[in-house]
Amino acid sequence: MGRGRRLLRFRDMPAHLRFNPHIRAGYRPLQGVRGCLASLFYLHNETINILTHGAPILYIIVSWPDLIPWNEVDSYFLSWCHLLGAGCPWIGSFIYHLFMNLEHGEKIYYRLLQLDMLGIWISQSIGALPAISASTYCLPRLCRYVIVCFYCVLSIWGLYKDLVSAIGGIIGALQIPEKWFPGAVDMCLNSHNIMHILVLTAVYSMHKSSISDLMWMAKGGCQRHSMDTDIQTSSDLPATDAGAAAG
Ligand SMILES: [Zn+2]
Repeated sequence: MGRGRRLLRFRDMPAHLRFNPHIRAGYRPLQGVRGCLASLFYLHNETINILTHGAPILYIIVSWPDLIPWNEVDSYFLSWCHLLGAGCPWIGSFIYHLFMNLEHGEKIYYRLLQLDMLGIWISQSIGALPAISASTYCLPRLCRYVIVCFYCVLSIWGLYKDLVSAIGGIIGALQIPEKWFPGAVDMCLNSHNIMHILVLTAVYSMHKSSISDLMWMAKGGCQRHSMDTDIQTSSDLPATDAGAAAG
């Protein structure tokens, strides 16, 4: 086995990489950038985390022209906000997991962790703008403007708060199932792998609902909704009243 493929045990790792004692083995040694990149091609205890969030990056790069019905939406700004929100979590996470064992020390490790959190923040704030816009679409223009501005200010304030608390949350996560089967799920099916799959499904469902929101707004949104409601109300009236309403 080459030097780059030598895998270590939990006790061999530096303190900042010893955050989950139930993952016993499969750790990459501290490496330079080339060593980290080479680790893409052999199995270790971060392989599943790297692949589960690396695959969506490839998928988005290959299929982004088809991800949004560009000819049918009327806001390119909101469409790009959605694409940014759907893409950034994978980029931050992929870089963090691939380079977390860089030999440049704890400070760089925490910068990478912040990058991972930043990707999630972009998804939750900028990526949610289509949903916020659709939710307020039928309100008067000034009211919409105030709500969207308020949301943006709160998101920026939450950036600092979220980064701090999410880092704590990740480090102090439940660590299930590895807590129940120490060493048995080092490479696959540990809590972080499961969390990655859940994030994938969450962002996929956000993508589906954002596309419906963008299409709904492009098709007239609440104007059509109020027309539908009027037609429904008229058809509910007795024939004479309906005739009067039509007149
Ligand atoms: Zn992760």
